[in-house]
Amino acid sequence: MLTLTDLTLSYGSFRALEGISLHADSGELVVLLGANGAGKSSTFRAISGLHKAGGSARFGGAELLGLKSAQVVRHGVVQCPEGRKLFPMMSVEKNLLLGAYVYASDKAGNQQALQQIYQTFPILAEKRNDPAGSLSGGQQQMVAIGRALMGRPKLLMLDEPSLGLAPLVVKQMFGIIQDINRRGTTVLLAEQNAYAALKISNRAYVMERGRIVMEGDSKTLLGDERIRKAYIGG
Ligand code: ATP
Repeated sequence: MLTLTDLTLSYGSFRALEGISLHADSGELVVLLGANGAGKSSTFRAISGLHKAGGSARFGGAELLGLKSAQVVRHGVVQCPEGRKLFPMMSVEKNLLLGAYVYASDKAGNQQALQQIYQTFPILAEKRNDPAGSLSGGQQQMVAIGRALMGRPKLLMLDEPSLGLAPLVVKQMFGIIQDINRRGTTVLLAEQNAYAALKISNRAYVMERGRIVMEGDSKTLLGDERIRKAYIGG
């Protein structure tokens, strides 16, 4: 479904991605592991058309590199950014509707998508008129994921959805991600919470300094001593 080949990306003279090759098949939940600065967000930025990149990012037969972000979304590839990036003064519902900007003329379709999101996250239906900034961290993360779902993704890219959340909320968040995947959306998940991410995923890639240094099925990586030492602790 998604195939990255030799993806490179630079910020000025700094090479953040040194040639990333990976794939995600239809229906899979694939994890990108790596410490701060490994290049996970840069990989997403390249795919989403938010930063110029070299190499290739093919999705369902189309080349994504060189497309504008809105065109990438139209292909069915939607990113939920690290740090949520909500508009705190705007209502929950307005934030959600922003995710449907490429389908602005399809009012009926967007209402249907909105109702589906309220089914997935009932608390957001309750708080639909509240300013997004008044919600708890976990609820704000739900808004961010909901907003991405409004873009009708075939492939959903989630950048560190567990960041800054309490352990119980993290558990709930990973359950939600697993549900979204089980209902048919392919997921590419960037995470530092290696244990929880490996637990719910099919396969994983480990990034270090702009390269893939390890890959495998998640169960195998969970038992790998190098992974346990470097990313899980013990
Ligand atoms: P994090 O979880 O901290 O975001 P990451 O794995 O997503 O980590 P990236 O954000 O992709 O990593 O960053 C990869 C490298 O690129 C890092 O060394 C980072 O400092 C650098 N970098 C990221 N954004 C910029 C930028 N706008 N300008 C210059 N360097 C950048």
